[in-house]
Amino acid sequence: MAVTLTTPLSEFSHVTKRILGHLGRMGIYTVHDLLYHFPVRYEDFSEIRPIAELDAGEQVTIQGIVENVSMRRSWRRHMTIIEATISDQNDTIRAIWFNQPYLAHTFKQGMWYNFSGKVSIKEEGVFLTNPSFEFLPHGPDEISEQNLPTNNLRHTGRLVPIYPETRGLTSKGIRFVIFPILEHLLKIPDYIPESIRAREKLPGIAEALNAIHFPNTLDDALTAKRRFSFENLFLLQMVNLRDRMMLAHESAPAIPVSIETIKEKLGLLPYTLTTSQKKSLWEICQDIAEPHPMNRLLQGDVGSGKTALAAIAALLTSDAGFQAAFMAPTEILARQHYATFMHLLSNSPLKVTIALFTSKESKICYGQDLEQEIPKKKMLQCIEKKDAQIVIGTHALLGNTVHWNKLGLVVIDEQHRFGVKQRAALIHYDDDNKKQNRRRNQTSYSMPHFLSMSATPIPRTLTLTVFGDLDLSTITELPPGRKPIKTYSIPPEKRAATYAFIRKSIKEGRQVFVICPRIEKTNPASESNVPKKNIKPFGSFGWNSHATNTLEVKTVTEEYEKLSKRIFPDLRVAMLHGKMPAKKTPASAGKPTKESVMRNFREGKIDILVSTTVIEVGVDVPNATIMMIEGAERFGLAQLYQLRGRVGRGAHESYCFLFTDSPSATGTSKSGGINARLNAITTAKNGFELAEYDLKQRGPGEFLGTTQTGFPDIAMEALMDPPLISASREAAKETLRSDPELKKNIPLQKKLSQFATSLHLE
Ligand code: ADP
Ligand code: MG
Repeated sequence: MAVTLTTPLSEFSHVTKRILGHLGRMGIYTVHDLLYHFPVRYEDFSEIRPIAELDAGEQVTIQGIVENVSMRRSWRRHMTIIEATISDQNDTIRAIWFNQPYLAHTFKQGMWYNFSGKVSIKEEGVFLTNPSFEFLPHGPDEISEQNLPTNNLRHTGRLVPIYPETRGLTSKGIRFVIFPILEHLLKIPDYIPESIRAREKLPGIAEALNAIHFPNTLDDALTAKRRFSFENLFLLQMVNLRDRMMLAHESAPAIPVSIETIKEKLGLLPYTLTTSQKKSLWEICQDIAEPHPMNRLLQGDVGSGKTALAAIAALLTSDAGFQAAFMAPTEILARQHYATFMHLLSNSPLKVTIALFTSKESKICYGQDLEQEIPKKKMLQCIEKKDAQIVIGTHALLGNTVHWNKLGLVVIDEQHRFGVKQRAALIHYDDDNKKQNRRRNQTSYSMPHFLSMSATPIPRTLTLTVFGDLDLSTITELPPGRKPIKTYSIPPEKRAATYAFIRKSIKEGRQVFVICPRIEKTNPASESNVPKKNIKPFGSFGWNSHATNTLEVKTVTEEYEKLSKRIFPDLRVAMLHGKMPAKKTPASAGKPTKESVMRNFREGKIDILVSTTVIEVGVDVPNATIMMIEGAERFGLAQLYQLRGRVGRGAHESYCFLFTDSPSATGTSKSGGINARLNAITTAKNGFELAEYDLKQRGPGEFLGTTQTGFPDIAMEALMDPPLISASREAAKETLRSDPELKKNIPLQKKLSQFATSLHLE
């Protein structure tokens, strides 16, 4: 049978309907899916030992004849126990299996088998518990003769692969499915070009697939794994470079910029830009002046002043007669940016129409005091007729009911939160628009410029890979006069003292955030921060760094009750969370809304705001000086950093207090993980330092967040390997340089489009 990577597994007779069902649950349908389902680890059963020489605790394989098999029940413990006696020429041993009654009829007495497992010794003698076993049709000679012990063995007498499993399909079952398929795979074309493989000393694809599933030595497995790591990085780089090339060929409006026009916009700001802001602004302006789309990431610590630069770019764009879309990750932030724009323009002679458009709200502002709430439908018309020039909103802006009219600039705030998917949606957002424009008989279609902004500094390895399609501008300094935020990890016994300090600060006129991990007590599984999938290939990620005990989790509703009624009954305490209505509607009449709470807090009418991480990004209230975080161990470092960035924005000394639910976290014991992480945030000088640390600690999976789903696990791990990243980048450049459309490497062309789809759409 001719087998390729695309052959459906249903074509193999040994893959039953039942097995297909189980595999389907894991998203495995084709030979490719199956063979790229890599082992998590290997059990080393390669050492074959005479029964007489076993020691307790060893992991071994023995070869022997099954002499007799018996079954008994242990009523007390509700178990069936199968017991077999096995002997080689010199000695015997017992093997015991629990709750596998079918084994009573599995063994052929008097025949040879391999048994692999761990040796135990008790009063009753030496035995193996739940060993793996495998029939040896020709007796043990088969093995010694060929001197290739691993040749035909799958479960014993070798390095045995252990896979991510699913209910009903164990690693043994997966080995049973994979093994025969591998034999067909001698002749699949390799998409990594030969010359690159030779230079990087990478095994060919068939060899690597064999070795990653059934390696002869651990070295073979590692070499194979290196190939797949390289492969993933290589493909990722190819996708990025191709996107770059594609954009360079697209046209975009060249926005005229001059020193004078920039100066005029800068005059709207109540401050002068820092040197580093100026440099970044200049990079952005040079890009938008080009007739090809900008695709730039503006990085800068929380509070470094990114918004102003984007605002200037948006104003220049609307001056030139094009629309600008400004996308924020939350409604709160969209509303805040809208307020910032209104403020900038309030004392300016410029005539610009600004709109706010989220899934729940649409407002348009034609100039001073001419703000109107309008129905969504009207908003869509305003956008289409270009009555709205700068539109600020959430991802609602990406909806396919929104028809832009000469869209010149798209700003995406807090880029990392949108993930690869949305970025791709934007870059390719066009397919629809292109068609529309053609229908309108516009011959030259033009794409907008893209500016992404992120306060989570992205480590260099990731900017080269995951974000490799972007150009970078970095704001390296904070506006003058900012003091560092004093950050402390607080032990439980100092809670009362902390409340006293908070009270004192509020009396001095300051405001306070209290952040809790959850809104209310819920079913722990549904809202947990703990990743669902916890088996990682080669298990090197720190997945267990999150506390799993959900009983103690602080919730917004409970903390609000406690603080407003018992601790600070005399102060103004409010709460804010994602389940509250966004703004006033007939249904929510009388109740506080996200909008009203945020407005009151900003206007100083609230002293303490108890909130979830909805306030995590961007929110700017300079009078807030204390950020108190409950259950700090439940947040990622990047998140804690963002949260802390909510304070320290004004002239007053600011503080961040970290509390933990887990008693071990604040102790001096080597409870490691949590302690070290919280320590990193109390000492890190800047976001970059912290980001590198976070990446190392938790791995890219956690770092990038769950939005980055299209990534195979092995790619995630490869992102930690800088030399492999540079090698793969060179290889990708070289490949595209010599054959931009991959006409000479059809397998790569196919693989790449498959990879790009899984990345963009999954
Ligand atoms: P972020 O980069 O985190 O988005 P913002 O753009 O929200 O930061 O800016 C944070 C605060 O700093 C805002 O209140 C803004 O008005 C102020 N700001 C920005 N640039 C400067 C500057 N050059 N001098 C003084 N204040 C500035
Ligand atoms: Mg911001």
